[in-house]
Amino acid sequence: MTAAADQGVLDPSPDRTRTTTPGRVFLSPPHMAGDELALLHEVFATNYVAPAGPMLSRFEAAMAALTGFHHCLAVVSGTAALHLALRHLGVGPGDRVIAADLTFIGGVAPIGQLGAEPIFVDADPETWCMNPGLLAEALAGGARQGRLPKAVVPCDLYGQACDLDALRAVTDAYEIPLIADSAEALGATYRGRHAGKGARAALYSFNGNKIVTAGGGGMLASDDAALIEHARGLSQQARQPVPHYEHVELGYNYRLSNVLAAIGVGQLAVLDDRVRQRRAIFSGYQQRLGRLDGITFMPEAGYGRANRWLTCILIEPRAFGADREAVRLALEAQDIEARPLWRPMHMQPVFAGATCFGGGVGKALFDQGLCLPSGSALGDGDLDRICEVIRGCARP
Ligand SMILES: *Cc1c(COP(=O)(O)O)cnc(C)c1O
Repeated sequence: MTAAADQGVLDPSPDRTRTTTPGRVFLSPPHMAGDELALLHEVFATNYVAPAGPMLSRFEAAMAALTGFHHCLAVVSGTAALHLALRHLGVGPGDRVIAADLTFIGGVAPIGQLGAEPIFVDADPETWCMNPGLLAEALAGGARQGRLPKAVVPCDLYGQACDLDALRAVTDAYEIPLIADSAEALGATYRGRHAGKGARAALYSFNGNKIVTAGGGGMLASDDAALIEHARGLSQQARQPVPHYEHVELGYNYRLSNVLAAIGVGQLAVLDDRVRQRRAIFSGYQQRLGRLDGITFMPEAGYGRANRWLTCILIEPRAFGADREAVRLALEAQDIEARPLWRPMHMQPVFAGATCFGGGVGKALFDQGLCLPSGSALGDGDLDRICEVIRGCARP
């Protein structure tokens, strides 16, 4: 990890000499490093064109080295990684699992798919991640009812680590395992550790829109060897280690392809650059938009270094003169993709009636929040053009 010395400084890396992107500007497109094709050739040369092979081991070893977790398991998606972790913990019908309210559905869907009831906890306005005080309230309430959750799943939102030590202090008091949804936080740190480290297990995503990608894929990481071993078995149809296909429980076909692992290995090699580039894009937006009335940026918590996967702004419509939807449509008209923040889980029809502790913070962030194009290959000319459109929406 590079030192925090470049915080807030515009990145002078050579990638940014290309100043404008031809055609549509996407929110967060893939950005290949160059070595991925050679690694794919290696896969073809060994003929491990399968969900097994040496590139998977390399990918898992690289992730263990990066995150500090002793054991890693490469699977088809971050969502699958969470599904396996919750299965290992025995989550099933009648159980409760606490999740972040402000997050993406992939960090929550496996709870419902296992037949358990999700309970949501609102974000902290300072970090946009799960509020430890509200989590304490939720667990105290659960304890009074004699219905504590089987697990707690906070999210490292937009590449900012949640306050893991504060959340752990709460879950440890009740001996409840914490699974970190670090899908968006590759390369981010929390108190000097990689995001997710310190949780019972963490999941990471290599979906095409994340800070680095394998063209799709996920990783489950843990220091608990038994957890990863069980998840590994579950990810391969829960075959017993005997020649005649014996099964004592039902598993999934969740193992990542060795082909995609090659792309992942190539991308992890440039993760430090990608974090630097995304952070430079964030500060580029700040320099261009930071003085406009009614526009504020996602705060960075003092306990870590965010990867700034996406640059998120809040638009206060009265002060700015237009709401976030008007700004989004103005950008769309110029073929520039921007998106609202994640819509909180308690507002989702699929979770109608679910319990939520708080919810007002996430709702307010959703109402005013906009994610701006943040791809690491974005040039200064792109930033100028995007910010020109945004400025054009302001009250004259
Ligand atoms: C992307 C994402 C996931 C799911 O990862 P996939 O690899 O797409 O399944 C889960 N949680 C969050 C917060 C995400 O952003």
